[in-house]
Amino acid sequence: MAVYDPKSLRATEFINDEEILETLDYADRNKENVRLIDELLEKARPRRTAGGCQCSGLTHREASVLLACEMPDKVARMYEVAEEIKLAFYGNRIVIFAPLYLSNYCVNGCLYCPYHTANKTIPRKKLTQEEVRREVVALQDMGHKRLAIESGEDPVNNPIEYILDCIRTIYGVHHKNGDIRRVNVNIAATTVENFSKLKDAGIGTYILFQETYHKKGYLELHPTGPKHDYDYHTEAMDRAMDGGIDDVGLGVLFGLDKYRYEFAGLLMHAEHLEAVHGVGPHTISVPRVKRADGIDPDVFDNSISDDTFTKIAACIRLAVPYTGMIVSTRESEAVRARLLQVGISQVSGASRTSVGGYTEEERPHDTEQFDVSDQRTLDEVVRWLMDSGHIPSFCTACYRAGRTGDRFMSLCKSGQILNCCHPNALMTLTEYLEDYASPETKRIGYEMVARELNRIPRERVRATARENIEAIRNSNRRDFRF
Ligand code: SF4
Ligand code: SF4
Repeated sequence: MAVYDPKSLRATEFINDEEILETLDYADRNKENVRLIDELLEKARPRRTAGGCQCSGLTHREASVLLACEMPDKVARMYEVAEEIKLAFYGNRIVIFAPLYLSNYCVNGCLYCPYHTANKTIPRKKLTQEEVRREVVALQDMGHKRLAIESGEDPVNNPIEYILDCIRTIYGVHHKNGDIRRVNVNIAATTVENFSKLKDAGIGTYILFQETYHKKGYLELHPTGPKHDYDYHTEAMDRAMDGGIDDVGLGVLFGLDKYRYEFAGLLMHAEHLEAVHGVGPHTISVPRVKRADGIDPDVFDNSISDDTFTKIAACIRLAVPYTGMIVSTRESEAVRARLLQVGISQVSGASRTSVGGYTEEERPHDTEQFDVSDQRTLDEVVRWLMDSGHIPSFCTACYRAGRTGDRFMSLCKSGQILNCCHPNALMTLTEYLEDYASPETKRIGYEMVARELNRIPRERVRATARENIEAIRNSNRRDFRF
């Protein structure tokens, strides 16, 4: 039997079934232990230090106790602490990105995804480089600066060389004042050698959803194809880091298996990365199973309510305070609004989840990976964020300044990131307002920029940010960053 060891490189040892079951039992026994719960909530709170601000986070066992707790006053307190952490380390900015689907050819048999190989009704499509260029122009015309590219796994149709070509094409498109400044990559688990190639191509984060940490369930949900290999899939982040990729993004597809099991597994994965590589995940995504061609989410009997989903997001924020948290347009405007209060730091906007979707007049449905709940334009999302007091940010500065992996984390942990994020958010928002916003969004946006500039604590940073914003508005200059 595999023994739990966060430093092990074997999937079944760092994501250990027995340890998860014991964790869930411990959480059940303590879910009404008021003293312990109060201690954990206190432990999770940010502390002011001479150099900034610090948080200790929570272990998977501790966070699982909070997730199991159903006492309304304690749950309310979890939400308050989650928001406190979010404001301490990320401020009131929200980073915006868009997915770009390159190809839906896939040799895997994932039961919850319409791209699975046995689906003969879905049209298969793979973008040519010219089509990639056109999609990128359409994305730049909306105002996007940060993409997550997505592709099925197919060594014949989508080999690594194809992905690398697409990345080169994307970075090479400079349309009007547009630029894609950071390409994150969400493709199948691959070899150290291929991860090195992705690193050399200048990717930002490598993202791979575990889907489920429950091995038995995983094997049933992935009956065929290379993804059936649970260990190879689960150990992918270690290979990515061995290949030189500093920033990796974890995620679980909530609804496939029991959420408390997934939650403990997710945090154990984060602890494993920290233990072995000295740096935890850069981001955690929280997708839920959604309807799509031939996929009925109701057949997965582990679906979770919006309340539970919110609690999961808050508990992740408490456990891993320095990790960015992402919610996509799978979720409705109402759910996204709730999650923003409990620690989400990145959202996608105006997403099309089909191959070639951005160059179509109407949102196409025939090659969609999932139904998009939030169908607003980017301009509407930007305005909505501002109306709720958030600064929409198109910032990509850290990765371009070499602040990745532990360099990013140590900056973040010292609380110093706030001295960069806030002015960077305002400068990139100004670019958006100048180049892409509707008159009303522009009006609200400039009011926000003027207000928020005054909140930059350091005088020198404030003066430089003000000068740069003037240069963006009056001299058509772009791409300033701290
Ligand atoms: S989830 Fe990914 S690997 Fe699985 S069928 Fe869909 S595209 Fe293929
Ligand atoms: S400064 Fe770094 S952490 Fe802050 S928003 Fe920009 S890229 Fe993200």
